[in-house]
Amino acid sequence: MSRPIVATINQQALRHNLAIVRRAAPHSRVWSVVKANAYGHGIARIWQSLAETDGFALLNLEEAILLRDQGWNKPILLLEGFFHEQDLPLIDRYRLTTSVHSNWQIKALANAQLSAPIDLYVKVNSGMNRLGFRPEQINGVWQKLRALKNVGDMTLMAHFADAENPEGIIEPMQRIERAAEGLSAPRSLSNSACTLWHPEAHYDWVRPGIVLYGASPSGDWQDIASSGLQPVMSLTSEIIGVQQLNPGDGVGYGYRYHAQQAQRIGVVACGYADGYPRHAPSGTPVWVDGVVTQVVGAVSMDMITVDLTPCPQAGIGSKVELWGDQVKIDQVAKAAGTVGYELMCALAPRVPVEVI
Ligand SMILES: *Cc1c(COP(=O)(O)O)cnc(C)c1O
Repeated sequence: MSRPIVATINQQALRHNLAIVRRAAPHSRVWSVVKANAYGHGIARIWQSLAETDGFALLNLEEAILLRDQGWNKPILLLEGFFHEQDLPLIDRYRLTTSVHSNWQIKALANAQLSAPIDLYVKVNSGMNRLGFRPEQINGVWQKLRALKNVGDMTLMAHFADAENPEGIIEPMQRIERAAEGLSAPRSLSNSACTLWHPEAHYDWVRPGIVLYGASPSGDWQDIASSGLQPVMSLTSEIIGVQQLNPGDGVGYGYRYHAQQAQRIGVVACGYADGYPRHAPSGTPVWVDGVVTQVVGAVSMDMITVDLTPCPQAGIGSKVELWGDQVKIDQVAKAAGTVGYELMCALAPRVPVEVI
């Protein structure tokens, strides 16, 4: 028998979450964001559960080619565009849509020998100051690109720095309006937070990522608790050891936890080498045999230790959920000072994955 840890991917939850996105943005088409190997879920494993989407958005040519090889022939968007001029023949061959955010890319497009025009997402810097042209540059960039024979359909694209905040897109939207002045351009602006909370930014194509996987864009599970979104990934394992502590006994590396009174401790086959956050402190919620209890002591490479006081019936072989339906990934992430995005993406390759 192998080590009992497993990540379970729920295909029905993915389909359900996409339906929730559709309901939230009924007048927009949907780019399902599957970058970072579908946020750690495995792009090859899950894309068919999202096949009702209008397109897939990602970063790597490798991931785009994988989707084409597996039979996806609808749109694919490269969110960060091409990284080198030499990528253009592949973008042409696989018929990908690419974002354009820098002047060198315009030159590369002008010089390329392509079999047919390719569709572009022209990126405006909404004030976040990562990728994109400044609003006052957009008109000139647009005209330059429009004149190229290699360029097909063009869409105006932007990304928000603070869409979790109710006021967070007001100023960026003004910048985008300035950029769009005089252009009759379709727009794609909305990540998950905008898709849920800023209908005024939906426009032609929304680009949700994290909500498809059933976690919160704000990092707070409470913020999506009434949305109907369902967690897609569950990380489960088992108790493989039990210790009976006396008052004052320490647990784990650095004896970071000491028993105040007699206490039963369970040892779970899951550690930071599986993707569990090493910074999760004592008190981080964990589900054991039907009860939510807590982590005690340091997270080790291969094990964590949990308090069995609220679950006296639990023992060796009892089922443990690190995150999933019972304990939300956002709750674990928050306790560890991070966000659900990071935990999903950091699921370790050594964890077996089961698709149901
Ligand atoms: C990652 C990404 C998204 C999706 O973001 P979520 O917060 O996961 O919805 C949308 N647009 C761009 C440009 C991205 O890089």
